[in-house]
Amino acid sequence: ERLPLMAGNWKMNLDHLEAIRHTQKLAFTLADKDYAAVEVAVLVPFTDLRSVQTLVDGDKLKIKYGSQDISQHDGGAYTGEVSGPMLSKLNCAYAVIGHSERRQYHGENEEIVNAKVKAAYRNGITPILCIGEPLDIRKAGTHVEYTLGQLDGALDGVPASDAETIVVAYEPVWAIGTGEVATPEDAQEVCGAIRARLAELYTPELAGKVRVLYGGSVKSSSAAGLMAKPDIDGGLIGGASLDADEFVKIVRYRD
Ligand code: 13P
Repeated sequence: ERLPLMAGNWKMNLDHLEAIRHTQKLAFTLADKDYAAVEVAVLVPFTDLRSVQTLVDGDKLKIKYGSQDISQHDGGAYTGEVSGPMLSKLNCAYAVIGHSERRQYHGENEEIVNAKVKAAYRNGITPILCIGEPLDIRKAGTHVEYTLGQLDGALDGVPASDAETIVVAYEPVWAIGTGEVATPEDAQEVCGAIRARLAELYTPELAGKVRVLYGGSVKSSSAAGLMAKPDIDGGLIGGASLDADEFVKIVRYRD
């Protein structure tokens, strides 16, 4: 009943001209049956959003798009930031929030992540909330409670009417960009715990609606094994999403 979501996080790659070419290639390759089976999204640099929007709106493409961050503020003297109203005006469906690279390099803590989740909802944008443990926590064996702590913090004060649409991406930091994908069993352990915590924080019905993604070195060769797990509803794809053919193979993981 949950439509799988395959979302490409381009990170800081592809200028706006490359973005147009890449999106056109995806659009040309993907067929209606792909979109019927899987929701496809691209999460792009701010400078690409307007180009992608023009293409998607103009050609009535079924591909969804969004940003990789959002300001917690709706406007004002925040040099360099991009606001929810600006993203909403560009018809962004999604905003990635709390990616480990932002937590690591931009000091995003639980409070900021929580404020950004609220900013997204305030502006009609669905958060793709990223949580997941670094290697030392995995080695210590406390990865489940660590990741659930991040979930609790991000959802503090978020009402069920908003939270029911959230997308949660479990991205263990040690698997991001390393080529070391989590095993389906390891990914399922945490994704299942995330759904169970959503049931506690809200209701089992809400938890049953939320899509929980896995991210971290996903390739077409690992996608089907991960997707076979009951609590993994899609992927957040970094490096492999920059290759249109490879990304399409991931979208077609059932083939
Ligand atoms: P990679 O797929 O490159 O490991 O990146 C995962 C990620 O961080 C997606 O948000």
